[in-house]
Amino acid sequence: MDKIQLSKPSLGEDELSAVREVFSTGYLGMGEYVREFENKLGVMFNRQAVCVSSGTAALQLALEAIGINKGDEVLVQSMTYTATYQAIIAAGGIPISCDINELDLSLDLSDAKRKLTKKTKAILPVHYGGYAGRIKELYSFASDNKLRVIEDAAHAFGSSVDDNLVGSFGDICCFSFDPVKSITCGEGGAIITNDTSVIRHVQSARILGLNKDTGVKLEDNSFCYEFTAGQGWRYHMSNVSAAIGLVQLGKSNDLIRKRRLLAFRYAQNLSDEPKLSLLPYNYNDVAPYIFVVLILDGNRDKILENLKKFGIHAGFHYYPCHLHPYFSQFGKYYLPVTENIYSKLLTLPMHADLEIKHVDFVSTYLKRELNN
Ligand SMILES: *Cc1c(COP(=O)(O)O)cnc(C)c1O
Repeated sequence: MDKIQLSKPSLGEDELSAVREVFSTGYLGMGEYVREFENKLGVMFNRQAVCVSSGTAALQLALEAIGINKGDEVLVQSMTYTATYQAIIAAGGIPISCDINELDLSLDLSDAKRKLTKKTKAILPVHYGGYAGRIKELYSFASDNKLRVIEDAAHAFGSSVDDNLVGSFGDICCFSFDPVKSITCGEGGAIITNDTSVIRHVQSARILGLNKDTGVKLEDNSFCYEFTAGQGWRYHMSNVSAAIGLVQLGKSNDLIRKRRLLAFRYAQNLSDEPKLSLLPYNYNDVAPYIFVVLILDGNRDKILENLKKFGIHAGFHYYPCHLHPYFSQFGKYYLPVTENIYSKLLTLPMHADLEIKHVDFVSTYLKRELNN
């Protein structure tokens, strides 16, 4: 059996010819492909969409757009990618580390409640593994406490809650289209919201704070714009990325259907193994970006190492953010569930080019590893 990668993009001739098409236009920067990608995302979620260079940039600009200022506190689960924390800090906020629910690894609202202060401005749930099942409770918590909500939906493209797509409801939703996410632009991200002021802020901040409405054309190819919007960044999306994203978006139903099929198979293969437990996600709702199991009896790192000998590249998501030395300056926390669970988390290979036979192979070797 070939090497089985943990994750990889599913790309083909279609993406390549889309990039070739952009080359032939001679304009690689942010232009009509980005606008078309934004329009298509807007239709998909029935909201406004603005595209940026990464999921991290999307989170940072969304936080800036809601007015996060120096010292403002953002409630966030420590069980996330470091990008979530870095985005909060880049926007001037302080990440307030919260624990997770043991059952499904979603943000623990009772812990969030204990950590509310006068400086709390926003709550940033992470749809770990694509699961957003507790989002209604989170929105009622946020509205009770007058908090803005920014959803880190980097794992949850295509997931739904009660038949509503993640991104089609709520306050602000951020997606990532990095190379290993469920659909990719190469690199990219998007902010989806109904809040026009957020869209306006991001449209300007992603391109150095440029205010297009006040642009004055001097002569051919020479523009003088007023930079009135404040601090800006070079976080826009390129036509090259958007062209890839448009093709991937067109295939997204198939890509996600495939991931769901593989997740169902893993669940079927592994549900009778007492030395591990499965996350209780319903893969009709969850569009699985990763497939995670909990090792109840066994050494996770040893298992990772041994699976590698059979060409199986597993991994784990994540080492808790609050335990990273750099983030500890923003507060010392004891998060019992997070700290108990992280060394048991094992992520099995999951991507749209994987086949059922690979899932069976991985399942067999994992069981063998647990029981030898
Ligand atoms: C991938 C990811 C991000 C960041 O997205 P990039 O596009 O890689 O910058 C943020 N949060 C989570 C949970 C992610 O998995």
